[in-house]
Amino acid sequence: MTVRAKKHLGQHFLNDESIAQQIADSLTLKGYKTVLEIGPGMGVLTKYLLKKNMTTYVIEIDTESVEYLRSNYLNLAPRIIEKDFLKYDLNQTFKQEPFAIIGNYPYNISSQIVFKTLEMRNQIPELSGMFQKEVAQRICSKEGSKVYGILSVLTQAFYDAEYLFTVPPNVFNPPPKVDSGVLRLIRKENFVLPCDEKLFFRTVKTAFQQRRKTIRNSLKTFNLSDNLKANSIFGKRPEQLSVQEFIQLTQLIEADS
Ligand code: SAH
Repeated sequence: MTVRAKKHLGQHFLNDESIAQQIADSLTLKGYKTVLEIGPGMGVLTKYLLKKNMTTYVIEIDTESVEYLRSNYLNLAPRIIEKDFLKYDLNQTFKQEPFAIIGNYPYNISSQIVFKTLEMRNQIPELSGMFQKEVAQRICSKEGSKVYGILSVLTQAFYDAEYLFTVPPNVFNPPPKVDSGVLRLIRKENFVLPCDEKLFFRTVKTAFQQRRKTIRNSLKTFNLSDNLKANSIFGKRPEQLSVQEFIQLTQLIEADS
């Protein structure tokens, strides 16, 4: 028995064992003893995770895949969570313990997986795995790059991001229309965001809503003082600002009252 791929769940099953092994090996195993795999499908990656010196949990939304896993990976059965990753309260399983996240992710929800990781970053020292190549590149890109955007700034504020390697469509069944990219995020140690977090997120998101405009123009709704807007950072476009400059910008806005 195998699982029939369902498009609405973003199912593209990897059928290259050495790539599965490489993804599993991308984990550093530093600072955690537990890993959560999102979307294990038929377990091509899970198999290699189970060989490592850590505890593997999986979360899978598809009943058919869960049945497959239950009958083929008997030891895993108690640690299969049959839920939607985006809706599940992970503290029910992990309490306050740290855990890493890994997966050959469903591409239709990949940005949301990153956003949920950022929200729970206190417990997530590491995330690695496979995304649509363009998304993986965006997460890892630096200012000045065409693909630099919200995901790049918000992720890199808290994590060091490294693009590892590209994977072609033909190693999946069915093959996706796009290339894939594997990355690894390692949380910055002892890092505290030195500005208001909500305002930081809002500033980055608002600035990139109009990426061709200057910060001065895109932050109009913030009603900032003319004095503040004379600062040279307001003459730049969002894609020119480093993470550090977005933090500075947030600090300036906070002080502008
Ligand atoms: N890791 C497997 C499957 C990748 S396809 C492999 O490499 O072959 C993506 C997987 O994510 C599918 O099994 C799909 O059912 C699952 N999935 C999709 N949306 C999900 C969600 N919201 N929560 C948990 N799993 C999800």
